[in-house]
Amino acid sequence: MGKEQHTTEQEYRLASRAGHPADTVVEIGAGKDRVRIGGGHFGLIAGPCSVESEEQIVRIAKAVKAAGATLLRGGAFKPRTSPYDFQGLGTDALYMLVKAREATGLPIVTELMSEKELPLFLDLVDVIQIGSRNMQNYALLKAVSRVHKPVLLKRGYSSTVKEWLLSAEYLLSGGNDQVILCERGVRGFDSSTRNVLDLAAIPLVKELSHLPVIVDPSHGTGRASLVAPMSLAAAASGADGLMIEVHVDPACSVSDAAQTITPDCLADITTHIKALKNTL
Ligand code: PEP
Ligand code: MN
Repeated sequence: MGKEQHTTEQEYRLASRAGHPADTVVEIGAGKDRVRIGGGHFGLIAGPCSVESEEQIVRIAKAVKAAGATLLRGGAFKPRTSPYDFQGLGTDALYMLVKAREATGLPIVTELMSEKELPLFLDLVDVIQIGSRNMQNYALLKAVSRVHKPVLLKRGYSSTVKEWLLSAEYLLSGGNDQVILCERGVRGFDSSTRNVLDLAAIPLVKELSHLPVIVDPSHGTGRASLVAPMSLAAAASGADGLMIEVHVDPACSVSDAAQTITPDCLADITTHIKALKNTL
């Protein structure tokens, strides 16, 4: 074969806006608890970094629902930088998330780290999260591309927008068209914030692709005080939703305490976003 010559559109032809002018709307959950993200539907995903106990996740689920969240997050299998840090409660946490969904009706979003757990995720969870560290785990992407379950694809922390869209293309080309993109910041030179939240990527990706794009200001900044302003900036930049780490007692979170906000702070964000959307 000769030298491959692809235009950008050919490279991510299914994720591209070209030929797919309508926004994709991802449908999550079923029946009366169904939630949509994209095409004007704003999704607010909130919950702790990690599921710590059934009591903790049920309590937080009720609190974030009262504060305006439409989906519940909570890490069960945690991708921790150090092997000595809390690794998550694993399968037990999935059943605790199910209890929290039963208590509130909120669909659940949690990270899949290995194909081994995929059958369990298909049975138990509503949205499969592919984390930043696994954005280019092509074996995992191919496995998830073959299932019928919405996927939240986080941007790799040193990935370009094009690489991110090509990872989405893996999901779409395998047959899974229920893909939500999530900007969560990229690595920069300044340790004042945990990452550099690339908000310009929101209008850019919405220009390039029909897929919904949400923002995670928690991992994007690493600081609780920056979560509200960046949430509003994300909404103003056209994001289709937010993913925010919330705990009833942020200081006691077993992971990511510094970037975790209270349900009251989430309620303020919800109020301000509603006001902002009325003025946009
Ligand atoms: C998370 O959302 O739980 C997480 C680990 O985020 P990221 O993959 O963006 O680091
Ligand atoms: Mn976290």
